[in-house]
Amino acid sequence: MRQAILALALACAASGALADDATHAHAPGSASHWTYSGTSGPEHWAQISEAFHTCESGRAESPIDIRSTKKAPADTPRIQFSYEPVPVHLLNTGHAIQFAATPGKDSVTLGDTRYQLVQFHFHSPGEERFASRASPMDLHLVHADASGKLLVVAVQFVVGDTPNPVLGALLDDIPMNPGEEKTDNALLVNPLGLLPATKSGYYTYSGSLTTPPCSEGVTWIELKEPVTISRAQLEAMRGFYDHNQRPVQPLNGREILEVD
Ligand SMILES: [Zn+2]
Repeated sequence: MRQAILALALACAASGALADDATHAHAPGSASHWTYSGTSGPEHWAQISEAFHTCESGRAESPIDIRSTKKAPADTPRIQFSYEPVPVHLLNTGHAIQFAATPGKDSVTLGDTRYQLVQFHFHSPGEERFASRASPMDLHLVHADASGKLLVVAVQFVVGDTPNPVLGALLDDIPMNPGEEKTDNALLVNPLGLLPATKSGYYTYSGSLTTPPCSEGVTWIELKEPVTISRAQLEAMRGFYDHNQRPVQPLNGREILEVD
Protein backbone atom coordinates (compact mmCIF):
# COMPACT_ATOMS: atom_id res chain seq x y z
CA MET A 1 0.00 0.00 0.00
CA ARG A 2 2.79 2.41 0.94
CA GLN A 3 4.41 1.61 -2.36
CA ALA A 4 1.17 2.29 -4.22
CA ILE A 5 0.83 5.68 -2.53
CA LEU A 6 4.44 6.55 -3.30
CA ALA A 7 3.98 5.56 -6.93
CA LEU A 8 0.88 7.74 -7.15
CA ALA A 9 2.67 10.68 -5.56
CA LEU A 10 5.51 10.33 -8.05
CA ALA A 11 3.10 10.12 -10.95
CA CYS A 12 1.31 13.27 -9.83
CA ALA A 13 4.56 15.11 -9.16
CA ALA A 14 5.52 14.19 -12.70
CA SER A 15 2.33 15.75 -14.07
CA GLY A 16 3.05 18.94 -12.17
CA ALA A 17 6.62 19.14 -13.33
CA LEU A 18 5.56 18.71 -16.92
CA ALA A 19 2.57 21.04 -16.79
CA ASP A 20 4.55 24.04 -18.03
CA ASP A 21 5.89 22.05 -20.92
CA ALA A 22 4.00 22.96 -24.07
CA THR A 23 4.54 19.47 -25.39
CA HIS A 24 2.52 18.03 -22.52
CA ALA A 25 -0.93 18.44 -24.05
CA HIS A 26 -2.47 16.00 -21.59
CA ALA A 27 -2.65 18.26 -18.56
CA PRO A 28 -1.61 21.80 -19.36
CA GLY A 29 -1.58 24.24 -16.47
CA SER A 30 -2.53 21.87 -13.69
CA ALA A 31 -0.74 19.68 -11.22
CA SER A 32 -3.97 18.09 -10.00
CA HIS A 33 -3.95 14.35 -9.46
CA TRP A 34 -6.07 12.27 -11.79
CA THR A 35 -6.02 8.61 -12.69
CA TYR A 36 -7.95 6.05 -14.69
CA SER A 37 -9.68 4.29 -11.77
CA GLY A 38 -11.03 4.76 -8.26
CA THR A 39 -11.80 8.08 -6.58
CA SER A 40 -9.63 10.09 -8.99
CA GLY A 41 -10.84 8.15 -12.07
CA PRO A 42 -12.73 9.50 -15.11
CA GLU A 43 -16.10 9.80 -13.30
CA HIS A 44 -14.47 12.18 -10.79
CA TRP A 45 -12.15 14.25 -12.98
CA ALA A 46 -14.45 17.31 -12.90
CA GLN A 47 -14.43 17.31 -9.08
CA ILE A 48 -10.63 17.16 -8.84
CA SER A 49 -10.07 20.68 -10.13
CA GLU A 50 -12.15 23.67 -11.26
CA ALA A 51 -10.01 23.60 -14.39
CA PHE A 52 -11.39 20.14 -15.24
CA HIS A 53 -15.11 21.09 -15.25
CA THR A 54 -15.41 20.42 -19.02
CA CYS A 55 -14.77 16.71 -18.32
CA GLU A 56 -18.33 16.65 -16.91
CA SER A 57 -20.13 19.66 -18.43
CA GLY A 58 -18.70 19.26 -21.95
CA ARG A 59 -21.13 18.35 -24.73
CA ALA A 60 -18.57 17.44 -27.40
CA GLU A 61 -16.22 15.08 -25.57
CA SER A 62 -13.94 12.25 -26.71
CA PRO A 63 -13.52 9.35 -27.15
CA ILE A 64 -16.70 8.24 -28.94
CA ASP A 65 -18.21 5.06 -30.31
CA ILE A 66 -18.14 5.33 -34.11
CA ARG A 67 -21.37 3.71 -35.25
CA SER A 68 -23.57 5.86 -37.44
CA THR A 69 -21.61 7.88 -39.97
CA LYS A 70 -22.33 10.10 -42.95
CA LYS A 71 -20.41 10.28 -46.24
CA ALA A 72 -18.32 13.45 -46.38
CA PRO A 73 -19.14 15.81 -49.28
CA ALA A 74 -16.80 15.39 -52.26
CA ASP A 75 -15.23 18.81 -51.68
CA THR A 76 -14.24 18.02 -48.05
CA PRO A 77 -10.50 18.72 -47.67
CA ARG A 78 -8.35 15.59 -47.21
CA ILE A 79 -5.56 15.38 -44.65
CA GLN A 80 -2.01 15.45 -46.03
CA PHE A 81 0.93 14.14 -43.98
CA SER A 82 4.33 15.79 -44.08
CA TYR A 83 6.45 13.77 -41.66
CA GLU A 84 10.22 13.31 -41.68
CA PRO A 85 12.66 11.52 -39.34
CA VAL A 86 13.13 13.26 -35.97
CA PRO A 87 15.32 12.47 -32.94
CA VAL A 88 13.82 10.33 -30.20
CA HIS A 89 12.56 12.25 -27.17
CA LEU A 90 10.40 10.03 -24.96
CA LEU A 91 8.55 10.88 -21.75
CA ASN A 92 6.87 8.68 -19.20
CA THR A 93 4.13 11.16 -18.17
CA GLY A 94 2.57 9.08 -15.41
CA HIS A 95 -0.48 8.58 -17.67
CA ALA A 96 1.02 7.40 -20.96
CA ILE A 97 4.20 6.91 -22.94
CA GLN A 98 4.67 10.06 -24.98
CA PHE A 99 7.02 11.14 -27.77
CA ALA A 100 7.83 14.86 -27.91
CA ALA A 101 8.09 16.02 -31.52
CA THR A 102 10.85 18.32 -32.72
CA PRO A 103 9.27 21.80 -33.08
CA GLY A 104 8.83 22.95 -36.67
CA LYS A 105 9.51 19.58 -38.29
CA ASP A 106 6.58 17.22 -38.81
CA SER A 107 3.16 18.54 -39.76
CA VAL A 108 -0.17 17.76 -41.41
CA THR A 109 -2.27 19.98 -43.64
CA LEU A 110 -6.06 20.07 -43.76
CA GLY A 111 -7.41 22.50 -46.34
CA ASP A 112 -5.49 25.75 -45.93
CA THR A 113 -4.39 25.02 -42.37
CA ARG A 114 -1.07 23.53 -41.33
CA TYR A 115 -0.91 21.75 -37.97
CA GLN A 116 2.49 21.04 -36.43
CA LEU A 117 3.02 17.70 -34.68
CA VAL A 118 3.47 18.44 -30.97
CA GLN A 119 3.57 14.95 -29.47
CA PHE A 120 2.21 11.45 -29.85
CA HIS A 121 1.26 8.90 -27.21
CA PHE A 122 -0.36 5.51 -26.75
CA HIS A 123 -3.47 4.15 -25.00
CA SER A 124 -4.13 0.51 -24.19
CA PRO A 125 -6.81 -0.57 -24.96
CA GLY A 126 -7.55 1.96 -27.72
CA GLU A 127 -9.89 4.76 -26.65
CA GLU A 128 -12.13 5.08 -29.69
CA ARG A 129 -14.62 2.29 -30.36
CA PHE A 130 -15.60 1.11 -33.80
CA ALA A 131 -19.13 -0.38 -33.68
CA SER A 132 -18.54 -0.63 -29.90
CA ARG A 133 -15.22 -2.49 -30.21
CA ALA A 134 -11.86 -1.13 -29.04
CA SER A 135 -8.53 -2.12 -30.55
CA PRO A 136 -5.87 -3.50 -28.14
CA MET A 137 -3.84 -0.27 -28.44
CA ASP A 138 -4.06 3.07 -30.21
CA LEU A 139 -1.79 5.97 -31.09
CA HIS A 140 -2.82 9.63 -30.81
CA LEU A 141 -0.74 12.11 -32.80
CA VAL A 142 -1.48 15.58 -31.38
CA HIS A 143 -1.02 18.58 -33.71
CA ALA A 144 -1.60 22.32 -33.20
CA ASP A 145 -2.07 25.13 -35.71
CA ALA A 146 -0.61 28.64 -35.32
CA SER A 147 -3.56 29.72 -33.15
CA GLY A 148 -3.31 26.65 -30.88
CA LYS A 149 -6.29 24.78 -32.35
CA LEU A 150 -5.72 21.04 -31.99
CA LEU A 151 -6.04 18.19 -34.48
CA VAL A 152 -5.49 14.60 -33.33
CA VAL A 153 -4.84 11.71 -35.72
CA ALA A 154 -5.77 8.34 -34.19
CA VAL A 155 -4.23 5.08 -35.41
CA GLN A 156 -5.46 1.64 -34.30
CA PHE A 157 -3.16 -1.35 -33.81
CA VAL A 158 -3.83 -5.03 -34.45
CA VAL A 159 -1.69 -7.94 -33.28
CA GLY A 160 -0.06 -9.98 -36.04
CA ASP A 161 3.13 -11.78 -36.98
CA THR A 162 5.10 -8.70 -37.99
CA PRO A 163 6.55 -6.35 -35.37
CA ASN A 164 6.37 -2.62 -36.18
CA PRO A 165 9.96 -1.35 -36.72
CA VAL A 166 9.36 2.17 -35.35
CA LEU A 167 7.63 0.91 -32.21
CA GLY A 168 10.48 -1.58 -31.86
CA ALA A 169 13.05 1.24 -31.94
CA LEU A 170 11.08 3.29 -29.39
CA LEU A 171 10.62 0.37 -26.99
CA ASP A 172 14.36 0.24 -26.39
CA ASP A 173 14.36 3.86 -25.17
CA ILE A 174 11.16 4.17 -23.10
CA PRO A 175 11.87 5.55 -19.60
CA MET A 176 10.73 3.16 -16.90
CA ASN A 177 9.45 5.56 -14.22
CA PRO A 178 6.79 8.28 -14.23
CA GLY A 179 8.38 11.70 -14.67
CA GLU A 180 11.42 10.38 -16.50
CA GLU A 181 12.36 11.35 -20.02
CA LYS A 182 14.98 10.19 -22.46
CA THR A 183 16.50 11.92 -25.47
CA ASP A 184 18.50 10.06 -28.08
CA ASN A 185 19.72 12.51 -30.73
CA ALA A 186 21.59 9.72 -32.51
CA LEU A 187 18.38 7.77 -33.13
CA LEU A 188 16.05 9.21 -35.76
CA VAL A 189 12.57 7.78 -36.29
CA ASN A 190 9.91 8.76 -38.80
CA PRO A 191 6.41 8.79 -37.24
CA LEU A 192 5.14 7.86 -40.71
CA GLY A 193 6.29 4.32 -39.85
CA LEU A 194 3.53 4.18 -37.21
CA LEU A 195 0.84 5.04 -39.75
CA PRO A 196 -1.00 2.65 -42.09
CA ALA A 197 -0.18 2.50 -45.79
CA THR A 198 -3.62 3.86 -46.62
CA LYS A 199 -4.12 7.26 -45.00
CA SER A 200 -7.02 8.37 -47.18
CA GLY A 201 -9.82 6.46 -45.44
CA TYR A 202 -10.90 7.92 -42.11
CA TYR A 203 -13.70 9.18 -39.91
CA THR A 204 -13.66 12.76 -38.68
CA TYR A 205 -15.62 14.61 -36.00
CA SER A 206 -15.25 17.43 -33.49
CA GLY A 207 -14.30 16.30 -29.98
CA SER A 208 -12.00 16.97 -27.05
CA LEU A 209 -8.82 15.97 -25.28
CA THR A 210 -9.50 12.56 -23.69
CA THR A 211 -7.61 13.57 -20.53
CA PRO A 212 -8.11 16.49 -18.12
CA PRO A 213 -8.83 19.33 -18.77
CA CYS A 214 -10.92 17.65 -21.54
CA SER A 215 -10.80 20.84 -23.66
CA GLU A 216 -13.09 20.81 -26.70
CA GLY A 217 -12.71 22.13 -30.25
CA VAL A 218 -10.35 19.30 -31.19
CA THR A 219 -10.58 17.94 -34.77
CA TRP A 220 -10.30 14.15 -34.69
CA ILE A 221 -9.09 12.10 -37.67
CA GLU A 222 -9.68 8.38 -37.05
CA LEU A 223 -7.74 6.37 -39.64
CA LYS A 224 -9.63 3.22 -40.68
CA GLU A 225 -6.74 0.96 -41.66
CA PRO A 226 -4.97 -0.50 -38.62
CA VAL A 227 -1.23 -1.02 -38.18
CA THR A 228 0.21 -4.42 -37.24
CA ILE A 229 2.34 -4.89 -34.12
CA SER A 230 3.54 -8.13 -32.57
CA ARG A 231 2.10 -9.72 -29.43
CA ALA A 232 5.44 -9.10 -27.68
CA GLN A 233 5.30 -5.39 -28.56
CA LEU A 234 1.75 -5.08 -27.21
CA GLU A 235 2.73 -6.84 -23.99
CA ALA A 236 5.79 -4.61 -23.61
CA MET A 237 3.68 -1.44 -24.00
CA ARG A 238 1.09 -2.81 -21.54
CA GLY A 239 3.95 -3.25 -19.10
CA PHE A 240 4.16 0.56 -18.93
CA TYR A 241 0.46 1.49 -19.06
CA ASP A 242 -2.62 -0.69 -19.22
CA HIS A 243 -6.20 0.61 -19.11
CA ASN A 244 -5.25 4.26 -19.67
CA GLN A 245 -8.54 4.51 -21.54
CA ARG A 246 -11.32 7.05 -20.92
CA PRO A 247 -14.87 5.64 -21.24
CA VAL A 248 -16.94 6.47 -24.35
CA GLN A 249 -18.62 9.89 -24.24
CA PRO A 250 -22.12 10.75 -25.58
CA LEU A 251 -22.31 12.06 -29.14
CA ASN A 252 -24.99 14.66 -28.29
CA GLY A 253 -26.04 14.97 -31.92
CA ARG A 254 -22.57 15.36 -33.39
CA GLU A 255 -22.05 14.16 -36.93
CA ILE A 256 -19.28 11.70 -37.81
CA LEU A 257 -18.14 12.13 -41.40
CA GLU A 258 -16.64 9.27 -43.39
CA VAL A 259 -13.90 10.40 -45.78
CA ASP A 260 -12.79 8.06 -48.59
ZN1 LIG B 1 -4.69 10.24 -26.26
